[in-house]
Amino acid sequence: IMQIFMPLNFFGFVYREMKGSMANIEKMFALLREQPKIVDQNNADELQVNQGSIQFNNVNFSYHTDRSILNNLNFSIAAGSKVAFVGSSGAGKSTLSKLLYRFYDPDSGEITIDGQDIKQVTQDSLRRAIGIVPQDTVLFNTTIGENIRYGAPNASDEDIDKAVENAYLSEFIRQLPDGLNTLVGERGLKLSGGEKQRVAIARTILKKSPILIFDEATSSLDSEAEQNIMRAIKQVAQNHTSIMIAHRLSTIVDADTIFVLHKGEIIEQGDHLSLLKADGHYAKLWNNQQQNSHE
Ligand code: ADP
Ligand code: MG
Repeated sequence: IMQIFMPLNFFGFVYREMKGSMANIEKMFALLREQPKIVDQNNADELQVNQGSIQFNNVNFSYHTDRSILNNLNFSIAAGSKVAFVGSSGAGKSTLSKLLYRFYDPDSGEITIDGQDIKQVTQDSLRRAIGIVPQDTVLFNTTIGENIRYGAPNASDEDIDKAVENAYLSEFIRQLPDGLNTLVGERGLKLSGGEKQRVAIARTILKKSPILIFDEATSSLDSEAEQNIMRAIKQVAQNHTSIMIAHRLSTIVDADTIFVLHKGEIIEQGDHLSLLKADGHYAKLWNNQQQNSHE
């Protein structure tokens, strides 16, 4: 199942539009801009990102009125810091990143970036400011180079080479029959989960967004592939505000702040050591994962 940051039925629409013909990235971009319901306010300003601090103030959200997903969520992410969200599946981690990207608006409360309510800025400027590496990356039916360039359509070849290097993809691409011009997808190469994720990381490097989100970017990988990706992520995250959504806690132990999300609420926050000391939910998760570390 593909997870991409938009309502699923909307992705179905994009997918149907693109199937059959060779994926047309320009068209994809155009479709991605057509968000149902979410529209720019009249005279919306451009988001001005200076530092990249993020705040959720009393944010409530539900997909359907009968079931609340995020409950009065309050947290601050300091500019330039590395934070992590952990918690069981269904806790609302991906949802909060979708709200930050404004695929949905909160039912109440507000989300600000450097003090600006994200509802009052243009979606274009907001989405330029945020780079996301989703859980399951979708590659388009074109060359691997074009798949990377999708992060910044006007990037130079030098920029692409640099992004490839920083995403630890150079060696992989050197082995391909036509290098960056090798076709991927149905007509060509099939990439592993880890390779796809590094393509997504290269895209994100190219995009040069001040705010980065990695949604369970390593959850389906063996530990060697995971280490490669974590190296790539750490490289990208320098000098950026970054949000890691993690299942495997070993990947986020050095985050500045770890938020533990449970049923749409933050029940604990702190760094790894202080959370272990607190001996609560996080400590329990950690001990369970240590015991099952061969999984
Ligand atoms: P996590 O990322 O922590 O696993 P999610 O944010 O994906 O959790 O999901 C939180 C809850 O919202 C889950 O119960 C999930 O089933 C529900 N949910 C997620 N996306 C949708 C959607 N598009 N429509 C309705 N419910 C959804
Ligand atoms: Mg998720």
